[in-house]
Amino acid sequence: MHIGKRAIVIGAGMGGLSIAKALVDSFEEILVLEREELTSVIAPRAGIPQGRHPHSLLPGGTRALSDLFDNFPELLRNAGAKVTDYGKRMRFEFPGQDALPEREVGIEIHICTRPLVEAVVRRCVRTHRDINILDRRRVTELLWSEDDHAVIGVRCQTRGGAVESYAADLVVDASSRGELTLEFLRGIGTPQPPETTIGVDYNYATAIVEFSGWQPEELTILTFPNAPDSTRMGVLVKREDDRFFATLCGRGVDSPPMEWEAFVEFASTLPTDTLHRTLKKSRVHGKIVQFAFQESRRRHFEEVEGWPRGLIAVADAVCRFNPVHAQGMTVAAMEAVILRDILVARRGSANPLERLMDELMAKINPVIDNVWRLAALPDLAFPDARGCRPHDLGEALEYQSQLNKAALLDHTIHKLLLEVIGLITPAEALRMPDVVEKVRSLSRS
Ligand SMILES: Cc1cc2nc3c(=O)[nH]c(=O)nc-3n(C[C@H](O)[C@H](O)[C@H](O)COP(=O)(O)OP(=O)(O)OC[C@H]3O[C@@H](n4cnc5c(N)ncnc54)[C@H](O)[C@@H]3O)c2cc1C
Repeated sequence: MHIGKRAIVIGAGMGGLSIAKALVDSFEEILVLEREELTSVIAPRAGIPQGRHPHSLLPGGTRALSDLFDNFPELLRNAGAKVTDYGKRMRFEFPGQDALPEREVGIEIHICTRPLVEAVVRRCVRTHRDINILDRRRVTELLWSEDDHAVIGVRCQTRGGAVESYAADLVVDASSRGELTLEFLRGIGTPQPPETTIGVDYNYATAIVEFSGWQPEELTILTFPNAPDSTRMGVLVKREDDRFFATLCGRGVDSPPMEWEAFVEFASTLPTDTLHRTLKKSRVHGKIVQFAFQESRRRHFEEVEGWPRGLIAVADAVCRFNPVHAQGMTVAAMEAVILRDILVARRGSANPLERLMDELMAKINPVIDNVWRLAALPDLAFPDARGCRPHDLGEALEYQSQLNKAALLDHTIHKLLLEVIGLITPAEALRMPDVVEKVRSLSRS
C-alpha cells in the first residue's frame, strides 16, 4: 500500500540506490536524481573520487543489501567479485603480534572494487519499474511550502543548463555532503545540527599493481598501524580484474608518495614487512592516486527542533566514517533496511510522513553509535587525533589489544571479533562477561 505519490532521492551513490529500493511499495514513483552521467562502464567516476581506492563491502553490508535485493551475493559474484570465508585468505596484521591464523569462521566476504558494487546495485535498482534514475541532473534547491512546513520537491539543473522542478511527498538527501539540507535549514531559519567530529588527517595513496606468473594467496592483507608509535598502515586488496589495489596511509604531514619506487620504500616502514615484500614482486599499473580524509563527522539531526515534513537525510550526509575502517557502504545499506521497515509499519496511518526523520534518526542512531565507537577507539589512540576522548579510552585500548591476542589463540574469539569488525554483531558482544573472562585469561597465557 502506497503512502505517497512520489519520493525523490538526491544522488545515485551507495546510499541513494539502497534507499530507492527501500522506498519501493511505499511510493507510486521513486525518482533518483544524479548530477553525473551514469554509463554501463564499470569504472571510477568523478562524483565518487573514493572509487579509485579499495572499498571493502563488509559482511554486514552484503547481508543488508541481500535483504534489499534478491540474490545479491550471487549477482556480485557473477559480476566478478571474489568470495572467501572472512577468516581465510584475509591476513589481519594487528600491531605487536603475529597475523591472525587462517581459520574458517563461516562468514562470507565479497571482494571487488567500489564501481563494481555500485554497478550491481544500480542494475538491481533499474529492474524496478517504479524507480526512475535521471542522471546529469544536479539538484540545486529544495522546494518548500511554508504553510505546510514541508519540503514539497526539488529544483535541479540539467547538464545542458535547463532548470527542472519536480514535486514530491518525500525528498531524501543522499548526496553525501548533505549541503543541500544544511543550506535549506539555514534558509528557513532552523538551526544547524550539532556535530561530533574526530580529526584523523589520513592521507591515502593507492596504486593498482599486478604480478606476473605468481599471485599472493590472500585476497586482502591489512597491516594496521602500531599506535601511537607508528602512524602508517597499508592494505592490499584483490580486484575483479585480478590486479590488486595497494594502499598506503600516513597521518598529518606524513603523505605516502606518488612515485612508485618511493611508494614501495614507504611500505618498508610499516609495522610488518609483508606488504613491502609483496610490492617488491609487483609492478605498478597506471598512476598512483591520492585522497585526503580530514575528519569523521556525525550530524545530530535528531536535535534539530522543528524538522520539516517531507525531508530526510541518509548515509554520509548523516555520518561520514573514517574510511580506513571500511564501514560507510554497510551503514548506508543498513539505514535503507531500517527506513523500509519504518515505512511499512506506517502504512495505513493517518499521516505516515509525520516526524519521519525523528523516527529514522532514533532507529539508525544505535547502528551509528556502534560503528562510530568501533572506529573511534583506534582513531583516538593517536594523541594528535582531535575529538572528545571517552574517560575509559586507555582501558578500552588495552582490552582491544588483549582481544586481538586472544583471537590468535582461540577460534571462538577470532570468529566473534570478525563478526564485530564485519558489522554483523554489535560490539557489545565483546564485552559480555564470559567473553571478557576468556579474553583476560587467554591474554595472560
Ligand atoms: C577513500 C575512501 C575509501 C572508502 N572505503 C570504503 C570501504 O572500503 N568500505 C565502505 O563501506 N566504505 C568506504 N568508504 C565510504 C563510502 O564511500 C561512503 O560511505 C558511501 O559511498 C556513502 O554513500 P552516499 O550515498 O552517502 O554517498 P556517495 O556514494 O558518495 O554518493 C553520493 C552521490 O550523490 C551525487 N550527488 C552529490 N550532490 C548531488 C546533487 N546536488 N544533485 C544530484 N546528485 C548529487 C554524487 O554524484 C554521488 O553519486 C570510503 C570512502 C573514502 C573517501
